[in-house]
Amino acid sequence: MRSMALFSIPSSPLISSPTQANPNGSLRAKSPSLSFPHHQLLLPLNTTSTLSIKEELSLNSIPWVDDRQEEQSLIEQCVLRDQKHLKELSSWGIGGLCSYFLRVSQPYQLLAAIRYCRARSIPFLIVGKGSNCLFDDRGFDGFVLLNRLDQFQAIEPGVYRVGSGYPFNRLGVRCSIEGFSGLEFAGGIPGTVGGAVFMNAGAGGQETADVIDSVEMVTMDGEIRVLRRSDMAFGYRWSTFQQMKDLAAIVAVTFRLVPAETTRERQRAFLERRRKTQPIGERSAGSVFRNPLGIGMSAGELIELAGLKGLEIGGARVSKVHANFFINFDGSTSADMLALINHVKERVDQMFGIELKEEIKYVPHRTQTI
Ligand SMILES: Cc1cc2nc3c(=O)[nH]c(=O)nc-3n(C[C@H](O)[C@H](O)[C@H](O)COP(=O)(O)OP(=O)(O)OC[C@H]3O[C@@H](n4cnc5c(N)ncnc54)[C@H](O)[C@@H]3O)c2cc1C
Repeated sequence: MRSMALFSIPSSPLISSPTQANPNGSLRAKSPSLSFPHHQLLLPLNTTSTLSIKEELSLNSIPWVDDRQEEQSLIEQCVLRDQKHLKELSSWGIGGLCSYFLRVSQPYQLLAAIRYCRARSIPFLIVGKGSNCLFDDRGFDGFVLLNRLDQFQAIEPGVYRVGSGYPFNRLGVRCSIEGFSGLEFAGGIPGTVGGAVFMNAGAGGQETADVIDSVEMVTMDGEIRVLRRSDMAFGYRWSTFQQMKDLAAIVAVTFRLVPAETTRERQRAFLERRRKTQPIGERSAGSVFRNPLGIGMSAGELIELAGLKGLEIGGARVSKVHANFFINFDGSTSADMLALINHVKERVDQMFGIELKEEIKYVPHRTQTI
């Protein structure tokens, strides 16, 4: 048997005709035929190779349990089985049970859990704040690791080494208060540092990649690797990590910021603009679609122009405030949300000949063997 790990998800859902009209004119999801798109998020693991944690590499303070049996039994005691609802981990509030669940707050727990998964060929998924994920109503048939590695270290003025589970919005505010520029946009982005690097989160002309100095990651072989900025590539809501075959998890990130005078004001202005233009306080995953490049219009403007603002399918709605934000306003299922996403894609394609691509990541119930 091969085991797998969860990584990036392409944006081509398989549903051809996702909606049907109901008597009051709104649309309902045809859930029985709904399936999540297949994708290349599964990686074969070499279960025979041993894990090696290189202490001389920069994660210098990871306490490591030498006794494998002790480590396994520690994990056994902590793991929840069939008890954690993914909707509790999702800003959309959508998703069923996962088979295994562990909240990790120390790097050694993360490493031990990855080793546990490998030894048992269990697919696993790292979840930060779940603010960019659409989980399946049937849950996830694998191990969910909730990342709460929230260590924070100021190495020198403006240089911060931060655990990948540290809240990204808190980091943005903290750096701005300390007078360092580069992460002002992060205030208001409800993800973790790891999620922000993985997604290359950005707003208002700033993006995470601009201020990354290095990233510490764990490979599928359990090795800790330190990547310098020049070892990594980033694009619009894209990072090397989304295609890295041997990534298990981003563990820590070092940011290098520059001193500036008006950082706090700028950070507040970002937040204020967000409050005015986005449906704050409603259940969303931020922008559902990437902005198409080179057409001078955002995805939200296209959706609005197509007359789809306010469209509802089941408990899911295109926000009336910002058309690229889709809201779980009344117990939306993943089937409702996926049907809404596909309906909007189809309409925009029909009207403008533009194929919108998802920014959000689908997490299917079952992983696919390759
Ligand atoms: C109200 C709202 C506003 C938003 N505004 C913005 C915005 O302005 N700009 C923007 O870019 N985004 C925005 N987002 C989207 C989202 O917050 C970002 O994409 C964020 O970076 C996701 O972080 P997360 O920790 O929630 O990731 P998750 O949703 O938990 O995970 C996203 C992906 O990253 C992977 N991942 C997460 N952590 C790790 C790790 N440590 N190692 C390896 N892989 C990992 C997951 O496996 C998954 O594939 C917004 C979302 C909301 C709800």
